[in-house]
Amino acid sequence: MSSSTLRRTLGLRLSVWYAGVFILSTLALVSISYALLSSSLAQRDHDIIRATLKEYASRYELGGLAALQRAVQLEERTGSEEQLYVRVIGGGADAVFVRSPQAWGSYEVEDLDGTSTGLSGAFSHDRRAVLELATARLFDGSILQVGKTNEIRLALLRNFQVIVGLVSLVTLVAGIGGGLVLTRSTLQPIYDLIQVVRDIIRTGRTDTRVPARNEQGDAVDELSALFNTMLDRINGLMAAMSESIDNVAHDLRTPIARLRGLAERALQTGDSTEQREALANCLEEAERILSILNTVMDISEAETGGLQLRREPVALRALLAEVVELYEDVADAKKVKVTVESGDEVGVSGDRDRLRQVFANLLDNAIKYTPEGGHVRVAIARDGDSAVVTVKDTGAGIAAEHLPRIWERLYRADPSRSERGLGLGLSLVKAYVTAHGGTIEASSQPGQGSTFVVRLPLSPKP
Ligand code: ADP
Repeated sequence: MSSSTLRRTLGLRLSVWYAGVFILSTLALVSISYALLSSSLAQRDHDIIRATLKEYASRYELGGLAALQRAVQLEERTGSEEQLYVRVIGGGADAVFVRSPQAWGSYEVEDLDGTSTGLSGAFSHDRRAVLELATARLFDGSILQVGKTNEIRLALLRNFQVIVGLVSLVTLVAGIGGGLVLTRSTLQPIYDLIQVVRDIIRTGRTDTRVPARNEQGDAVDELSALFNTMLDRINGLMAAMSESIDNVAHDLRTPIARLRGLAERALQTGDSTEQREALANCLEEAERILSILNTVMDISEAETGGLQLRREPVALRALLAEVVELYEDVADAKKVKVTVESGDEVGVSGDRDRLRQVFANLLDNAIKYTPEGGHVRVAIARDGDSAVVTVKDTGAGIAAEHLPRIWERLYRADPSRSERGLGLGLSLVKAYVTAHGGTIEASSQPGQGSTFVVRLPLSPKP
């Protein structure tokens, strides 16, 4: 489904839903209001009819028909616009007095026999209205009837219906319009997100970003921000990967070129001793190339979680003593003093060979980058539930701009230094420490020395 079709379908569906809910709730509200208004108007009319009937009956009682007629005339002159129907039926069942407004000629009043008490209704021929009548038997046997049409009431209710209808229509249009605008603005970041994903799939480029809105706290905004952060990370990882491949290619070029040079020279010379020497050098270069490739593959394996650790209880102090002993000759040759601070044994659960490689690399670097007369101190301690190994030297140190990058594959802080390595040692160290669930940090004062701190989880107590 294309982006615009999706937008139309989704927006329309939500708007129709809004409109449906709106229409149903408006209908319910209007019906309830109509019923309440209609019943309260009817109640008011009935009250007027009953009160007038009572008043006229008492007039009749006090002063006979003449008093009643006077009261009706008075009401005609001073009363409201809406006149009431009044009829008195004598003993002979003939009406002795009738006051019926002219316009009411169409009501079938004669059909009502006047014997029923309470309210009764006479229908109109031409108007869809009812004349509501209340009847009372007077003291002399006559019957008094007072009535009122519901025409005004019906007109009021009709007006109410028209006004409510118009207001509902306007609000409905405003509701649907508002719903469309609201839906559009709410879903806009999702449409943007869809567009960005489409662009990435189409072009293969990950530098497109979802436009940021100046709003906060919205779950959709958070999704967009997280998506952008994820793209940043993917970009970072891809850049690091391509830099790593460049570095590997660059670092392999030199030994391979040397290998070719050695082989060419061996072919040209007829001297077998020189040829043997060239072959030995070729072997050395091949070893170097293999070593680079093996280390790069080991790092990748550890970083991607594919490294199988052969875990066993490892006594760190004993392991570090072994490593220091291994580097004794190198340190002596460089006149660098290596000391291990005394203390209790600290046990971790780990892969002995991999941990030996970690500390050997750190010690190798410390001795390599420390000039003659320098000092390398190794300390082992416990800190909470971690074992902490510190390797501190008084060497050249690492400049602040290089420090965050020393963990990258084939990165060398200062390639012009005479002490040259593969630039893979610290990447391997970090990958192995992380695979053990630990952390490693480096700090340095250029010209004064560097400190590497490895934290590993202590082995669980038996
Ligand atoms: P290398 O094989 O070059 O030593 P590493 O990955 O072990 O590669 O180290 C990366 C870089 O970090 C080194 O090139 C060096 O510049 C710097 N470095 C590592 N350890 C130390 C140290 N103890 N003192 C000074 N610089 C160091």
